[in-house]
Amino acid sequence: MEYAKLSDGNQMPMLGYGVFQIDDATTERCVTDALEVGYRLIDTAQAYGNERGVGAAMAASGVKREDIFLVDKVWITNYGDGKTYDSIKRSLELLGTDYIDLMLLHQAYNDYHAAWRDVIRAHKEGLVRSIGVSNFDPVRLADLNAFAEEPAVVNQVETHVFWQQKPAHENMVNLGVQHMSWGPFAEGANNFFKNPLLAQIGEAHGKGVGQVALRYLIDMGVVVIPKSTHKERMAENLDVFDFQLTDDERTQIATLDGGRSLIFDHSNPSFIGPWLKSVAESL
Ligand code: NAP
Repeated sequence: MEYAKLSDGNQMPMLGYGVFQIDDATTERCVTDALEVGYRLIDTAQAYGNERGVGAAMAASGVKREDIFLVDKVWITNYGDGKTYDSIKRSLELLGTDYIDLMLLHQAYNDYHAAWRDVIRAHKEGLVRSIGVSNFDPVRLADLNAFAEEPAVVNQVETHVFWQQKPAHENMVNLGVQHMSWGPFAEGANNFFKNPLLAQIGEAHGKGVGQVALRYLIDMGVVVIPKSTHKERMAENLDVFDFQLTDDERTQIATLDGGRSLIFDHSNPSFIGPWLKSVAESL
C-alpha cells in the first residue's frame, strides 16, 4: 500500500473501498470481503444508509480498529449549529466506534459554514481525527478555508480518466488539500471497462482496464476508492502496486480527459436546482 500524508500530519491509504449504493445488509457482507482481501480504508456516508453495516463488518473482522482508516460524510440535511455535531454522534453509534478517521462535509450546499464549526468541535474532542469536504469546487473550498478556524485537509470530488480535474487538482495541491477521487471508474460510464486505450496499456503490463485507471490516478497523487460488490473484483482493484506506467502511457491517458462530469454535475443549475428543492422538501 502507498500512503498520502495529510497536512494535519495524519496519513491515509492511497486506495480504499467505497460503499455507495449498497444496502445496509449487503454492505456488511461487502466490507467483510473487502477487509479480508486487504482493504484498510472504508468510505461511507450518512446518506448511504449503511453505516451500521460498515461498523458490524469492522467489528467482526478481527482487524484492529487502528489499522482501519474510516471515512464518513455528513449529509446536507444534517448541516446546522448543533445539528451536525449530533449527527456525528449518531454516526459513531451506528458505526460502533468512538472515532472516525476522516469526516467530510458531503456537498457545498445548505449552511456548510455552521456544519464546519460542528465538525471542528468534533475534531477538537477527538471524535474525528481529520476533517475535510467533498464536492467543493475551488471557489467553495477557498470560501470555507478563508473563514474557518481549521482548514479542510481533503476534498473528495468526481475524478476519473474521463474527468481528470487537473485545474481543481492544482488548486488543491497549492492549498495543501489532499485530492480524493469518487467514482474512479466513472461508475462504468462511457463503456469504461472496454476502453481500447486502457485495455491496450493494461495488456502491456498484464493488467486490466480498471487497474490501469487506478494506477494513473494514484500516480497523479489522488486517493481512490473503487467500489465492487464482487470479492474477486475487489482483490483485482487492490492489486495495482506491482507495476508502473511509463511517461508515454500517462501522456496517452491524459488525452482521455473530457473536462466535464459524467455522473453528478454540481455546476449545472438546471439539474442541481430542482434536486436541492426536492431534498429540502423532504425535510
Ligand atoms: P465506481 O467505483 O467508479 O464504479 C463502480 C462500478 O464499477 C460498479 O458498477 C462495479 O460493479 C464496477 N466494477 C468495479 N470493479 C470492477 C472491475 N474490476 N471490473 C468490472 N467492473 C467493475 O463508482 P462509485 O461506487 O460511484 O464510486 C466509488 C466510491 O466513491 C463510492 O462507493 C463512494 O464511496 C464514493 N462516492 C462518493 C460520492 C460523493 O459525492 N462524495 C459520490 C459517489 C461515490 P460491481 O459492483 O458489479 O463489481
